Amino acid sequence: MARAAIYTLDNQTRLRFLCVGCEIEHHLPLNNFLPGQTMYEWNGDTTNITVTPGTLIENPTPEVNRCHFLLENGDIVYQPDCDHQFAGQRQTLPNL
Ligand SMILES: [Zn+2]
Repeated sequence: MARAAIYTLDNQTRLRFLCVGCEIEHHLPLNNFLPGQTMYEWNGDTTNITVTPGTLIENPTPEVNRCHFLLENGDIVYQPDCDHQFAGQRQTLPNL
């Protein structure tokens, strides 16, 4: 089962996956980066996903002020400065 999916919007390919900390999907651009966007590199795998560098999202939902994570081999590795319940934890990404 895939833990992430690819879609294209406005000529930009994006990776989407479910964040269990925020309980929403996060979407990362993979090409045609706009000014100020992080230039992510993805390993091409939708199950054992690895993306570099890490991501910091401010105010992803009304309940969460900060979500900061790495995507490593299909896991989401939450950094200690997240303000949701998974701060500092490593979780396998749920299947889409
Ligand atoms: Zn999140």
